[in-house]
Amino acid sequence: MIFNNIEKLPQEKLQKMQLDRLNTQLNTVYNNCPLYKKRFDQNNVDPNITKIEDLAKFPILTDEIIIENTVKNKDVFGGRQNIIEDAIWKLFSNDKFPYVEGSPFFYGYSQNDFKSEIDILKRMLFGTGIRQGDFVHAIILGMDPITYSVYQAALKLGCRFLGGLAVEIDIPRIVDSMRLKPNCLITPFAMLMAASKHAKKAGFDESTHFLNYQKVLVHDIIWETRRAEKLQRKGWKNAEFFNLRKINIPGFYACECEKHDGLHYPQDSFIAEIVDPENPKELVAEGERGQLLVTNITREASPCIRYTPPRPLFASKHLEICDCGRTIARLKFLK
Ligand SMILES: [Zn+2]
Repeated sequence: MIFNNIEKLPQEKLQKMQLDRLNTQLNTVYNNCPLYKKRFDQNNVDPNITKIEDLAKFPILTDEIIIENTVKNKDVFGGRQNIIEDAIWKLFSNDKFPYVEGSPFFYGYSQNDFKSEIDILKRMLFGTGIRQGDFVHAIILGMDPITYSVYQAALKLGCRFLGGLAVEIDIPRIVDSMRLKPNCLITPFAMLMAASKHAKKAGFDESTHFLNYQKVLVHDIIWETRRAEKLQRKGWKNAEFFNLRKINIPGFYACECEKHDGLHYPQDSFIAEIVDPENPKELVAEGERGQLLVTNITREASPCIRYTPPRPLFASKHLEICDCGRTIARLKFLK
């Protein structure tokens, strides 16, 4: 069963939707955001485009560029504020972003931005097989938006929710709370390993302590089968492991479905380009390895156009229908 109709639209329709949304977004940011107006003009690109591939002519956005604009203009959005201040509902600082004294840096969220992010995560959780009545244990990072959104997404699916904080001091509590028998876990990889280590140290029988987990969504690393096998030997015997990726622009998540053949990403909200790392104006062919660039096409508050994280991500893109029945594209993250 496929949860959301968008996930089974033919690629042609999905890409038409992307082009319409991209055109609207490029025009909106050109008219509202000083950063984009300046950079589009400098690169002599017209925000009205006729095909998605034209996006490759636009300049790349890096953290360095946002920092420069944040500091120079004392602008917390680094020139990317796209809607009026009053419509920005929440601000989140980016913990991966270097702090520049006197120039705080934030991502803004409108009401619609949050709704969209929650909907995306709800789809991802459903895609892994998490359903109403499941008990989701999420080990999450402080004020990171995923904290709020994953909680809302799980509740909207009708799940029970147990939170834990991804800091070392919280590990004993996280391991103790596993006695409540949550059956799904969302966690950064490092915390998964720390929990396993602590359980052993605290005298828990690992071969039984982790048995209740059926779905384990691991983020922040490239997941490999050998890692799952190692953990299954430690006691996660009933667990099916999923790779959930998030990059440090709000709302971009990609997650494996139950077929484990690449990570579906929200093609209706993002454009994921795979480019030649030496020449970002050159797209690589479908299925080939290249650098991942991400563009928000629905985000209202502080969108990113052709963003690359400080440590570039490498991936291949796959548009053929997945064995799960979803038509929505997949990424395979590569080293
Ligand atoms: Zn699939």
